Order: sequence, then C-alpha cells, then structure tokens
Amino acid sequence: MMATTHAAVGAAVGAAAAAVAAAAPELTPVLLAAGAAGGVFPDFDLYAGHRRTLHFPVYYWVAAAVAVAVAVAAPSALTVAASVFVVAAAAHSAMDAVGGGLELRPWEATSQRAVYNHFHGRWEPPRRWIRYDGAPEDLLLAGAATAPTLFVAGGDPVVVRVALGALAVSAGYVALRRPLASVAERLAAAAPAPVRPYVPDRFL
Ligand SMILES: [Zn+2]
Repeated sequence: MMATTHAAVGAAVGAAAAAVAAAAPELTPVLLAAGAAGGVFPDFDLYAGHRRTLHFPVYYWVAAAVAVAVAVAAPSALTVAASVFVVAAAAHSAMDAVGGGLELRPWEATSQRAVYNHFHGRWEPPRRWIRYDGAPEDLLLAGAATAPTLFVAGGDPVVVRVALGALAVSAGYVALRRPLASVAERLAAAAPAPVRPYVPDRFL
C-alpha cells in the first residue's frame, strides 16, 4: 500500500481515539498527527531490511495493548497519542500482509514476501487483496480511510488541506505507478558505483 494509505489509516486510528476523547477536542489534531506518523513509521526501514526491520505484524499489537492500557489507566495527551501511534504502526504491519509482494513490479505477483513475521520467524506471503501499492483499489482504500479524519476534523482548514492534498498526491502516484518502476530501474542502473550499495535490491 502507498505511504499515504498507511498515513490515512493511521489518522483514522487517531480519529477513533479523538471520538473517544471527545471531552478534549483540543487533542484532535495531535491524535490525527500521531496516527499518521505511526502509520508511516514502519516504512522508515525502506533502505535497511524493508518490511522486516521496523515491521512487526505481531509484536506491535502486544505493544499496542500495553500502550492502550496505560492510556486508559492514566489518560494524558502523551499516553493517548503514544497509544494511537503504536496501534497505527501495528495496523500498517498487518496491512502489508494483505498487499502485494516485495518486488519492483508487484503486479506481476512473483514475490512470496509481503512482511516479515518475527514471532513465527518467517515471511508472510502477500494476500494481494490490494494487489500492489498504487493500485486503483489502494486509492479507494486511502479515500475511505480519510473519511473519519475529515469527520472529526470539523472543518479544521489545516487538517482538510493536508488530508485532501495527500489524496491528490496519491491519485497522481496511482496514475504513474507502472511507468515509475521502469524509471527507477533505469536510474538504479545509471547510479555511480559508490551509490550502488544503497540502492535497494529490487531496483537492480
Ligand atoms: Zn510497510
């Protein structure tokens, strides 16, 4: 799934928390931001063991249960935002298992690796409900996941602008997704020797 889809789903987690914490509406933007940040966080491993180093499809849920328990026992901006962040990161790792595989052209469906499951010590196979990042159904999911954010934002112009801007960027990415794979491949092939070790394998 696209980074923007993960961010939108993470923000939806924040929106759910904001609905629960309706007595503190000033927290809403913080919770939306914490959710979006947690939603994209696992993909910071893109250049170092992608979908393995920061992806924990089981352990994040354990951490999430602890974080939510702490937030319920001692509610504060920090504990609630932290729990939203961890739940969003857990959702990201789980979502990767129902997307495409780790390959340059995931629509060809040749990879059997979706996300690494540290608990079972093996790669989860791609379920391909969302066939690949940037697929039309990926955009549909991003759009649906943005709805709760717009709902709790209550017309906050910054939230609305960021959310709709992200959807516009997503639409552009979906339109260019397939040609972009060839561009990335050509750029990787032209990369100077000192840079090559940092080019992810799937581009070479
Ligand atoms: Zn991921």
